[in-house]
Amino acid sequence: MAVYSHSRISTFEQCPFKYKLQYVDRIEPETEQTIEPFMGDLVHQALEKLYTDKKFKKRVSKASLLKFFKDLWKKEYSSDILVVKKGLTAENYKKMGLKFLSDYYDSYKDDDMTILDLETQDKMTLPDGNQWHVRIDKLGCKGDIYFVCDYKTNSSMKDQEEADGDRQLAMYSIWVKDKFKDAKKVILKWHMLAFNKEVTSERTDGELKKLQQDVCNTIKQIEIATRDDDFPRNQCGLCPYCGYQAYCPSFKHQIKLTQKTIEQFKKDDGVKLVDGYAEIKAKLDELQEKEEEFKTKLVEFSKQLGIDVVYGSNMLAKVKEFEKIILPEDKEELIAIMKDKGEWEELAMINFMKFQSKYFKGELHPDIHKKITKEKDFRVSLSKRKDLEEE
Ligand code: SF4
Repeated sequence: MAVYSHSRISTFEQCPFKYKLQYVDRIEPETEQTIEPFMGDLVHQALEKLYTDKKFKKRVSKASLLKFFKDLWKKEYSSDILVVKKGLTAENYKKMGLKFLSDYYDSYKDDDMTILDLETQDKMTLPDGNQWHVRIDKLGCKGDIYFVCDYKTNSSMKDQEEADGDRQLAMYSIWVKDKFKDAKKVILKWHMLAFNKEVTSERTDGELKKLQQDVCNTIKQIEIATRDDDFPRNQCGLCPYCGYQAYCPSFKHQIKLTQKTIEQFKKDDGVKLVDGYAEIKAKLDELQEKEEEFKTKLVEFSKQLGIDVVYGSNMLAKVKEFEKIILPEDKEELIAIMKDKGEWEELAMINFMKFQSKYFKGELHPDIHKKITKEKDFRVSLSKRKDLEEE
């Protein structure tokens, strides 16, 4: 039985191939440290310190909390931490961290919540026997009301819908209900530090049961993918932030090109092939347009002269008028009539795309499925490089 976590199954949901690299092959991602998580981590450490001291009845002043953060920053910060947002410096982030802590301190200095645990490191057993990692920033209670609290330093405010759909804290509330039998209610609470606001949510037992089942279903999918070594890639908007681009077939070539000089870039076989193919495709498209133009002109010419064969130096063009049918817009009605009149069997065609999709999803009847064989093929398509558009 394995230990799963919210981030582990989120990675699978985002991109199964990334999951394989991270959790099966255990490859370390190639990511540069950026300032946002660095600042977020230090804020978490400062708040952990605040509540650890409080637990031991040690008074923590706001000044000493802020000093703790500043000292930590001095110790941990290095100039290779990346500031991506234009016009901002590390100093801006340091000030933001201080402001978050200062506002938080003022808002919660009189809070009478009993702190039960900080940065928990525990596991709970799921219905399928697997383990779930429980890591809560702050776990507290007021009588028999329990609070699962998470600190967020990001600059977008979590809305209620997002909070009510959140899996991470909701899963932790199952652990709380199991561990603290007096818990009448478990409130999930996000401290949105950038806004000095909190967002809360609760789950019914029925919702938690369904959530656990959904998690077990995803774990089942992970287990099947692992057994079959079948981890497809899912290119999405998060790819630019993926630390595995150098290992990903969809980005490996791009990463290699960034390491080349302009001369080496021009000589790269892949670059030459794509550029050549793009040139030919553009010419073909142009030629196709021209072909249509010529055909239209030939039809007009033949009509004007009342002829149906036009002669060239070595070739001739036959222009034949014919009638074609146009199907009504309402296809459903047409199909119903065809079925009713017994024409459907003879005239209907297999919807190949749908057939193929059902085959790969395993949705065909086994008797039909076993009649089909499959083979590997390739499709080549051209599109603009998005990374260059963004630059
Ligand atoms: S770059 Fe995108 S497709 Fe490739 S592994 Fe990462 S998330 Fe998946």
